[in-house]
This record gives sequence, structure tokens and C-alpha cells, in this order.
Amino acid sequence: MHIRLGGAAGEVTGSSYLVETSRAKVLVDFGMFQGGKLADQQNRLNDWIPAQQLDAVVLTHGHLDHCGRIPILATLGYSGPIYCTLSTVEVTRVILLDSANLQESDAERSNKKRIRAGKPLQYPLYREEDVEQIMQQFKPVRYSAPREIAPGISIRLEDAGHILGSASVEMTIEDQGKRRVVVFSGDVGPKHAPLLRDPVTFSSADVVFLESTYGDRDHRPIEETKQELLKILQGAERAREKVLIPAFAIGRTQNLMYHLAEMFRNRDLAKLPIFIDSPMATKATEIYMRHPAIMDDETKALAARKQLDQDLSELRYTVTREESMAINEVDQPCIVIAGSGMCTGGRILHHFKHNLWRENVQVVIVGYMGHDTLGAALVHGAKHVKIHGERIVVRASIHTLGGFSAHAGRTELLEWIAPVAASQPRVVLTHGEPGPREALGKEIQRRHGLDIAYPLLGDRIEL
Ligand SMILES: [Zn+2]
Ligand SMILES: [Zn+2]
Repeated sequence: MHIRLGGAAGEVTGSSYLVETSRAKVLVDFGMFQGGKLADQQNRLNDWIPAQQLDAVVLTHGHLDHCGRIPILATLGYSGPIYCTLSTVEVTRVILLDSANLQESDAERSNKKRIRAGKPLQYPLYREEDVEQIMQQFKPVRYSAPREIAPGISIRLEDAGHILGSASVEMTIEDQGKRRVVVFSGDVGPKHAPLLRDPVTFSSADVVFLESTYGDRDHRPIEETKQELLKILQGAERAREKVLIPAFAIGRTQNLMYHLAEMFRNRDLAKLPIFIDSPMATKATEIYMRHPAIMDDETKALAARKQLDQDLSELRYTVTREESMAINEVDQPCIVIAGSGMCTGGRILHHFKHNLWRENVQVVIVGYMGHDTLGAALVHGAKHVKIHGERIVVRASIHTLGGFSAHAGRTELLEWIAPVAASQPRVVLTHGEPGPREALGKEIQRRHGLDIAYPLLGDRIEL
């Protein structure tokens, strides 16, 4: 029995593991490769997936870099179950439909050029109907409840505290008289994040696959970051300015809402109008609100007495394009949270076009910005940017806040591995660039004397 790496091996995207024994084949995550020139090609190379012999798929959470290739399984003829938490089913549906739409429109645009250039047509990786088809194969599982998913293979999902529904997977594999316990961390969240419970740790395993995104550094403490945000908002309120916050629709937007609710409740800040200007964030927030049972105790208590609704009485969801455009006319201090997170598309672009050139505007960057994105240009102090082909001068104030990550920092990853390290597992580091993952590996080895593997794409880990 062995596990094959199908992505996130020396990088942070394309998460995927194929577990194979003499009697079963199970896929854990099937995420999309993102960014980089090779990504599209890598997403299309799927001959290593024995789609028709697969017994089951397990999904850790709904981020695209973990679920983004799952609809391809529909096109390859996979008709078996996909196991994850109920809230992950709901989040994944939103993410995959959006992804299919993007791919269909990208293919359409590039095909217009391809036809004129005499090149063969490009097909989208999958279409909306493939998503609809594969979504019918999802089977929700409860946290902590063991479940047999294939001959000799059972799983238990535990909260990973990363986004709503996120899970680490403990997999027990039995084959030809051998029994192995393998833990897949999935993406591990930080401790004390708003809304979610802290990540669950494990006490014993033979092999642990651990993410290493921030294996070389810690984030700024969340309390400091909240104070920074508060200062910016207080300043904007006094000066009657608009605040623009590009944010990821799932996770980051809801965390921001929670922080704002707290500021209003404590009367640190006068209630400003807040616009959630992203159809996807609106859908994601509805999903969060449907699952109070898996929130942390603080959020449960607030939800039970409808406190958050009261705190956020000035919050508006802008659904239509017209409603979104109308925010430009708002002539009072307000907060606009709009997609997309890295400012590569979405409604944040039209807000930037109307506001970046003004002096009395505050832009707050709260998330990671990939190379060559508009968001990264702003973070690095660009004096001009291009939006929809138009050159815009940047006169707005740009603030970058570093403490709102959905990932555990180095110290928290080391705390996560400590309890299970006592059982002397082999540690396989994935989901990290080479620098961070080696830095984390060296420290785990120094502290616990464990064997650390740094596999590459296509490598096999024997069990
Ligand atoms: Zn994630
Ligand atoms: Zn990830």
C-alpha cells in the first residue's frame, strides 16, 4: 500500500493524494493548480487518476486548491461517493459553479483569438453541468464519526479550524495483514480565529501529511491587527472617508464582519454602513449562518441571542450590478467589502476605478496577494495601476494588515504536530513552497527526531 502525490508537493496549490492498496483506491482532495504558467497544463494531465476504479473521494475543505479538479472526475466517468462535512458540500458547490463559469468564459474568449490564429480550440476544464452532476455524488459526514469508505479503509474527520467545514482526515488503512493510520492535516487554521473552533490535534499515527504554507514564519498577532484596522476605520469616520476592502468571499469576509460587529458592540466605532458587494460572499455568508452548531462557543452564544444581527444592523448585501454601482453615489463614510481577494477581477475593480485616484479614500488589504496581481502592485506602492485597460493614478491611502490569515503560522503548526509526534510517525510535508516547508521540517526533526519527507509531484510514499 502506498500514497501518491497528485499536487501541492513543493507548492501550495493542486492538493491531491491517491491512496492505493491491493483492494481499494481512494483520492483525498483533488484541487486545482493555480497561478504559474504550467497550472493549466497540470490541471489537464489526469491520466494518473484511475477514475473508474476509484472507490471513494474524501475532501478536506471547499477552497479551489483542494476541490477544483473534482468535476473532472465526472468527465472521466467516476460515479462513486465524495465524502466531506455538510458545510463543505455547500461551500464547494458555490466555489465549483463559479470556477466552471470562469473557465467557460475564459475558453470562449481565448477561442475567438484561436480561431483567427488558426489554432485548435481550447475546451474548458469542465462546465456547469459537470459540477451539477458531481455535486449529486457528495455524501456529508459528521465530524468525529468514523465511516468505512472502501474495502479496508475508514476515515474520521476532525475540525481543522481553517474555513467553515474544513477538516483534517484520520484514515485507517488495512491491507494484507497490515494496519496503518494516516493523518492528512488538510489546511490548518490559526488558533483563536473568529467564528471557528480551534484545530483538533491527533494523538497517534504511522504517517502524518502536514501542510507547511507558513512553515518559516508567524503572523502578526490578531489583536494587533484588529487594533490597526480599528484605527484606520476611526480615522475614516472622522474624516468622512470611504474604506475599500478587497476580500476573499469565503472565510475572510465573514471574519471581517465578525470583527466589525465587535467594534460596533464595544462602541469603539460609530456604526458605519457596510456594503458586502460580492454575490459569492453573500452566498457564503448565508452558508455560515446556516451552521451555528460548528462555530466556536463565543459565536454560538452571540448567534443564540441574535447579537450579531443587532451589531450589523447597518450591513447591506448589494446583489445586482445597479446596487453595486449605486455605492459610488454614497456620500458618507462607509465600508465596502468586495471581491475579488487579490483584486484580479470582480466588483472591487469598479470601486477602484472610481476611487483609487481620490485622496479621501482608504484601501485596506487584508489577505495574501499573489505575484503580478493588482493587489500586489498596490501593496508595493504603485503610483499608477491599469484597470480595464485604463491608467489610474493612486492617491488613496493603501494599508496592508498581516494578521488575518486563515492558516496556522509556524509556531501553531509546531504545536499541532507535537501531540501526534509522540507516537513517532513519519512526517510528510506538503502544501508549502520549498523554503517554508524545509524550515518547518528541520525544526520538527530537531524537536522530535522524526523522519521528514519532502515529496515532489508524482512521488509515492510507501506505507
Ligand atoms: Zn484552504
Ligand atoms: Zn490550501
